[in-house]
Amino acid sequence: MNQARKEIPRSNAASAPRILVVEDESDLALLLAYNLEAEGYVVESVERGDEAELRLAESAPDLVILDWMLPGVSGLEICRRLRARENTRTLPVIMVTARGEEAERVRGLSVGADDYVVKPFSVPELMARVRALLRRSRPERIADRLNAGDLDLDRETRRVRRGSRDIHLGPTEFRLLEYLLEKPGRVFSRAQLLDGVWGQAAEIDERTVDVHVGRLRKALSRGRERDPIRTVRGTGYAFDETFGKP
Ligand code: CA
Repeated sequence: MNQARKEIPRSNAASAPRILVVEDESDLALLLAYNLEAEGYVVESVERGDEAELRLAESAPDLVILDWMLPGVSGLEICRRLRARENTRTLPVIMVTARGEEAERVRGLSVGADDYVVKPFSVPELMARVRALLRRSRPERIADRLNAGDLDLDRETRRVRRGSRDIHLGPTEFRLLEYLLEKPGRVFSRAQLLDGVWGQAAEIDERTVDVHVGRLRKALSRGRERDPIRTVRGTGYAFDETFGKP
């Protein structure tokens, strides 16, 4: 193994885990992306095995959901190649397949997949496996709770509370709060928020960020309660690092 070869940088510890979905059934790919995004992950989907190889060579995600039967290069072969490369040897991989026979399961695990689900599978079960695998591979990414002042965000239950009040947020507002709260005081531009919260592939107008920040603020603060989000004119937004402090 070439020692000089640099590890492909993963996204930094404070941002959302990135998941690559390699699935050629577009309905299933959409369903997975929708559910993973709702859990706060940043998702990228590709339909072909060779396309997946190109993406994986560019930058390693935090986890790969890999269909077995793919056009281009098979999931089995992709998994084998990932395991053969130093920088992706420990990258968590969940294999997805229509084949349920025990021999196939063993074969999938023998090329180094960390876990294995058989179609049709239950989406909540797959989500639980994704969480378990990420927790095992990068525990620092999955601190259960984030809080500041009287505001508390629980990633496990996806609940947000302010004092004794439950705050109901849509998935995007939840993710936005989580993202800002991971780095109190840090000012994010709208482009950075789009990248971190919606994902790089998102082709969304930057004003969308303002709309969601507006909704988040409205949900978080009632009456004269202090607004924990700071607008930095001409730059973007930050979670106010003085929030909850005297
Ligand atoms: Ca397939």
